[in-house]
Amino acid sequence: MIFGRRLRKKKLFQPPKRKILLNPGPLTTTDSVKRALIVSDICPREEEFGRLILSISQDLKRVVHAGDDYESVLFSGSGTAAVESVLSSVVADNEAILVLDNGAYGQRMLEICSIHYRPDQVFHLKASHTKVINPSIVETLLKAHPNISYVAVVHHETTTGLVNPIDDILKLTKKYKAAIVVDAMSSFGGIPINVTNNPYDFLISSSNKCLQGMPGLSFVVFKGEYAQKARMLKPKSLYLDLWKQYDFFNKYHQMQFTPPTQVCFALKQALKEYFEEGEAARYSRYEQSWKVLVRGIQDLGLKLFLPMQLQSKLLTAIKIPEAAQYSFDGMHDYLQDRDITIYPGKTSEADTFRVANIGAIDHNDITIFLDHLKNYLKFEDSQL
Ligand SMILES: *Cc1c(COP(=O)(O)O)cnc(C)c1O
Repeated sequence: MIFGRRLRKKKLFQPPKRKILLNPGPLTTTDSVKRALIVSDICPREEEFGRLILSISQDLKRVVHAGDDYESVLFSGSGTAAVESVLSSVVADNEAILVLDNGAYGQRMLEICSIHYRPDQVFHLKASHTKVINPSIVETLLKAHPNISYVAVVHHETTTGLVNPIDDILKLTKKYKAAIVVDAMSSFGGIPINVTNNPYDFLISSSNKCLQGMPGLSFVVFKGEYAQKARMLKPKSLYLDLWKQYDFFNKYHQMQFTPPTQVCFALKQALKEYFEEGEAARYSRYEQSWKVLVRGIQDLGLKLFLPMQLQSKLLTAIKIPEAAQYSFDGMHDYLQDRDITIYPGKTSEADTFRVANIGAIDHNDITIFLDHLKNYLKFEDSQL
């Protein structure tokens, strides 16, 4: 299906200079995704645009192998918009939610729940940033508090690069008749997720992480049965009401409020490229980059924040070298001058910086980064 009348794109579009973004999104995109932004102006209430976002919502389900028992809804806004939409749209007055927190994004979900619900409706399991969420503690809490109807967890904690055992937590939520809400922001389209085998109730992500699209859209893939169960709740938000957005989309194939039209075309192209590359090949491209990264980092004598077995292989938190002359800012600026962007640390438990190896980059880009980093460290040493 061809969407939109493209301008004479090949002639008009000069791909801008390529940069290697090693921050965890928005990421380096392909030239073809950039080019997809250049379309004829279009009104989002036109049928043609409705067909585009309908096909995007079907593609998003296909990424996680979802069938007809799943639905998907798009929102304008960064990933947090979709997280807040789910978290504020599901918990009834006589129910509670358990938030699992071993990083800044778990903490953010807690903050969202604290805004929308009474203190007695929000349970908080706080864990160390260097450990996965322990399922047996989750079980103890679910057993002790039968009013917990939802459990919210981050799949890939972008704070540190840790992967939580969401399949184990899913089993517990089934056992105790609760629903699982997964912030899969930085894993969706990166780490294979299959809801046929592991029927997560809510999966949340955005256009600009492992799907390799442009920022501006977030989305929820969820089990359709919740649309019946939770829709009776009194809305806590106009813009982010999950059920209103879902009903409106179903009825009109439109979003309630203005979508970032061009960003939708770019996401469609990014999804096309996702399916062309394939789930397994994308993960193994990321994995190959990560292996080169970790080997190089260790050769330079730098230390990883997490033990190997917890690593997502998509993002790595690296300890800042202890010698006083190294600063994140110095390293960042040196690399930025060479068209490479690294990212500050986010965990409060150590001084780290982060390198994500997701996006339209591969192990050759990581090698270029490592060469520059090596030169920077040498340069700093020579200043001693
Ligand atoms: C990126 C990200 C988010 C969303 O952050 P935004 O700034 O709204 O894009 C949420 N959770 C995780 C785990 C993330 O990596």
